[in-house]
Amino acid sequence: YFQTSFEQQGAAVRVRFAPGVSREAALEVARLGCSRALVLSTPPQADGALMLAETLGASAAGVFTRAVMHTPVAVTEEAVAHALSVKADCIVAIGGGSTTGLGKAIAWRTDLPQIVIPTTYAGSEATGILGQTENGIKTTVTDPKIRPEVILYDAELVATLPVAMTVTSALNAMAHAVEALYAQNRNPISTMLATEGLRAFVSSLPAVVAEPAGLTARGETLYGAWLCGTVLGQVGMALHHKLCHTLGGSFDLPHAETHAVILPHATAFNARAVPELLKPVRDILGGTAPGAALHDFARRMGAPTSLRELGMAESDLDRAAELATTKPYWNPQPVDRQSIRRLLQAAWSGDKPD
Ligand code: NAD
Repeated sequence: YFQTSFEQQGAAVRVRFAPGVSREAALEVARLGCSRALVLSTPPQADGALMLAETLGASAAGVFTRAVMHTPVAVTEEAVAHALSVKADCIVAIGGGSTTGLGKAIAWRTDLPQIVIPTTYAGSEATGILGQTENGIKTTVTDPKIRPEVILYDAELVATLPVAMTVTSALNAMAHAVEALYAQNRNPISTMLATEGLRAFVSSLPAVVAEPAGLTARGETLYGAWLCGTVLGQVGMALHHKLCHTLGGSFDLPHAETHAVILPHATAFNARAVPELLKPVRDILGGTAPGAALHDFARRMGAPTSLRELGMAESDLDRAAELATTKPYWNPQPVDRQSIRRLLQAAWSGDKPD
């Protein structure tokens, strides 16, 4: 199945993988020509941010530990004021997508360079996309200033991610890869990255679940996260991401868990239109149907499989179907309200898709 016409835009990003590499953050700050880093984290990861500031020594100018989910503009404005007051000349973000999001929001406004040390598999560090919220509305911005300059993947840091979050975060990353396989603007490189990202997670996640502190398997999951995040930044996403965006934005469902529940259903829905493009999922997971194979994998890993267990009310499914189909993203299988309502009902109940 050779694609005869395509475009590919690379990005200049420095990426380092090694257990313990975050302890070399000071070298990376100096390499950027900087000497006054502002360290960012969420409140629960404040201890990690303070430890990092300690290893940065004289090149740490300050610490801001109030990053929260969905990057509210009010928090960003406080953080920008803090960055200016400590005369920061770069950002070091340590955490998941929420912390990375705050770093990107600051960089978009100030053009400060960013070093990201990811501790989940969300993949935001590898994209030039910023999602931010103001007055309850989440919008996305794409700008070269938003893309982090340096990523330090340190398996020691992700080894503390609780197993339940590990599994849902991995499925969140795998969702980027699945949708990249059928993206309208895919290219042979994005398909290769997506396939390898899926393979890395399927090979390493069972080992991480069995032994969460094992650094080799943790390293391979981070490798998967990097590949899946990279394709997320390269090609367009479709129905799966639209559904998760709607459920997270309008029904306040948790980000990674929602991705974990929806992925088998959105994949099964699209497999009707593009079975050949989803062949890598079947090759990697086995089975004949990619949605069912993803459902079985998620269950084996102990992921939630229903919107019901995430706390969604069944009575909200009609409105969710309406919102998700009002301004739909491009999708390989045509989307209409009734079929999405059926998909959401199956996801709510936790049915295994065909
Ligand atoms: P998160 O960053 O909100 O992390 C969830 C919680 O886990 C936080 O409290 C965090 O402090 C904690 N945590 C993170 N790593 C930990 C670790 N190793 N040990 C213990 N606790 C840890 O969640 P997320 O799923 O990483 O990111 C979700 C956010 O990222 C969403 O807002 C999403 O929209 C955004 N995102 C953006 C992009 C993009 O390209 N712009 C891509 C992916 C995700």
